[in-house]
Amino acid sequence: YYNSESILFLNGKYVKASEASTDLYSQTLHYGYGVFEGIRAYQTVNGVKIFKSEEHYKRLKKSCELVNIPFSYTVEELEQITYQVLRRNNFADAYIRPLVYCGPNMSLTSPKEVSLMICAWEWGKYLGDQLLRLSISSYQRPNPKSIRIEAKVSGHYVNSILATSEAKQRGFDEALMLDMEGNVAEGPGANFFYEKDGALFTPSLGHILPGITRHTVLQICKELDIPVVEKKINPEELFEADGAFYCGTAAEVAGIESIEGHTFNKHWKNTLGAIIQEAYKSLVLEKSYSSYIIV
Ligand code: PMP
Repeated sequence: YYNSESILFLNGKYVKASEASTDLYSQTLHYGYGVFEGIRAYQTVNGVKIFKSEEHYKRLKKSCELVNIPFSYTVEELEQITYQVLRRNNFADAYIRPLVYCGPNMSLTSPKEVSLMICAWEWGKYLGDQLLRLSISSYQRPNPKSIRIEAKVSGHYVNSILATSEAKQRGFDEALMLDMEGNVAEGPGANFFYEKDGALFTPSLGHILPGITRHTVLQICKELDIPVVEKKINPEELFEADGAFYCGTAAEVAGIESIEGHTFNKHWKNTLGAIIQEAYKSLVLEKSYSSYIIV
């Protein structure tokens, strides 16, 4: 993703990545006290569009608020800056990474100085072809009474990194994480859905990041008349499931092949997840998907 020639936005200026620098005494670097977003832009039938930019930038502002990082950019300003970054790099299908980080401060107090950087890199339009083999992680999602689980805070991702590396060490593609009560929560960077008897099930909010893609999937389900239930999910339920998928801005809608070696009752191509994957693809590319008929 890193290209020294690419242009990023840093505190009011558009600069080359190789010419941007930061302070080694940054509170974000030492304590993980910063917030970020992951956003995608697509070459749609109507030109280059940032998918759900308003939702992402509202969440960025909310994350700042929840962890007391002062941040005054408006959603509109952030959108304009992001389109500038894309234009200056001539990017179409891209991943966008805004980061709000704190300046030098070695104490555990509110930040004295706050910076914004927005970078982007070209990233393929669609990942979703390969099915994922999941392990159930020994790492739980953090206790929501210890952190602000609904905020996308840099430091929270150490938990995701540990879970991912454990899954890979055990020979799996990805981890599935439980919450502190032992219910299914989410992946290290994606939300989880499973299918059973014609309906979809997904963990309720409370122990997960409220994903923008998760919300989009719920909207797609409504439009396509697919029943979907938000509830506490016992991991045992997954071994009887007909299918399952992950969803997130980076992962988009990614089918799951197995969980701890247990496969599902249906082939991926016959699942509700496959229908949602197609609908999501059409939505991000601004193509109509109302022609999908559920039988
Ligand atoms: N859960 C976690 C832990 C994540 O990091 C992400 C990625 N932001 C998601 C879920 C999916 O969120 P979104 O759909 O907003 O990208």
